[in-house]
Amino acid sequence: MNNLFFKDHKKALITGGAGFIGGALIRRLLKDTELKIFNLDKLGYASDLKNIENLIKSDNISRDKYEFIKFNLCEDKKIHDLINKIKPDLIFHLAAESHVDRSIEGPEVFINSNINGTFNLLEATRLYWEGLPEKKQKKFRFHHISTDEVFGSLSTKGFFTENSNYAPRSPYSASKAASDHLVNAWHHTYGLPVILTNCSNNFGPFQYPEKLIPLAIRMALRGLPIPMYANGQNVRDWLFVEDHIDALILAASLAKPGSNYCVGGFGERTNISVLLSICSILDEMRPRKNPYKNLIQSVSDRPGHDKRYAIDSSLIQKELGWTPNYKFEDALKITVDWYLRNSEWSKEKFA
Ligand code: NAD
Repeated sequence: MNNLFFKDHKKALITGGAGFIGGALIRRLLKDTELKIFNLDKLGYASDLKNIENLIKSDNISRDKYEFIKFNLCEDKKIHDLINKIKPDLIFHLAAESHVDRSIEGPEVFINSNINGTFNLLEATRLYWEGLPEKKQKKFRFHHISTDEVFGSLSTKGFFTENSNYAPRSPYSASKAASDHLVNAWHHTYGLPVILTNCSNNFGPFQYPEKLIPLAIRMALRGLPIPMYANGQNVRDWLFVEDHIDALILAASLAKPGSNYCVGGFGERTNISVLLSICSILDEMRPRKNPYKNLIQSVSDRPGHDKRYAIDSSLIQKELGWTPNYKFEDALKITVDWYLRNSEWSKEKFA
């Protein structure tokens, strides 16, 4: 990846850039491109800005290349003024509430952020884009980052593709599905040049330790039970976050307006096999008296728990040349190693 990808773009607005994937995207764009980055985030419980600040310092990145804006997309109507002030050439929209379990406990914030927040951003973007000169209009892109969960649950066979029907089953996935529909509608109705990508489960450094992989590492390191829903047979298609970032950069720079791509790592694993892999990596990297797998404990299943997600990524591979660079096991080792070296980071999140 290099700056050839954004030679026609100068300014990128990233929403949700204080989150796990948004942070990884910003770090990559700061390192590898000349783009000026505007990071818009409400700073919720999962947010972290230090990872970007630390990179700016360690890599001597010019302060002029990065600006953070604290902003809540669902509460603040001033988004239009803000976009007119920034004048972005490109928007990556990642801001969303993202944890399924939280959406079951309290769906309202998901409806507000993921649906109303997306609507506010789309409308402001449309008005801004309509006022751009034709040359700029053509180059502008609004890239909406979504999930495979909008397609519902698979049985033991088959894969999600760009043609799969929407069948969301949790408040989180329903809110993301609604946002996808809005984005597509703004393309078909108003001509807004949107790109939509639906990605499988991500993992990697800086993921808030409530999601399966970082939660398991955190609990294991504290010698506490590692929770596993039911018998651990639910299947997810895991993708290392850096591979997702490659896909986002390729799609934002090369895809035609109105394109939709499914992104996954052909990395299907049952939850129990993911937990066992984490435990055996920890046995090697941080040995203890009893194997870590003894800490795995079944807990009552998540209501409406989707059985299986699996993605067929052949379209983005064929059309944009994307392919994951990391094997699941290697990326998991990198991730476990990162959490071992950054245990303070996880602790702070729960302080
Ligand atoms: P995250 O929870 O780590 O980060 C989301 C960020 O969005 C947070 O910093 C939060 O403060 C911000 N945000 C939420 N609502 C906002 C609002 N109303 N206004 C401004 N900022 C707001 O999530 P993540 O894992 O980085 O996911 C990012 C995006 O990628 C989400 O849209 C998610 O649906 C999508 N996605 C995630 C995964 C995954 O496995 N994590 C997979 C596919 C797609």
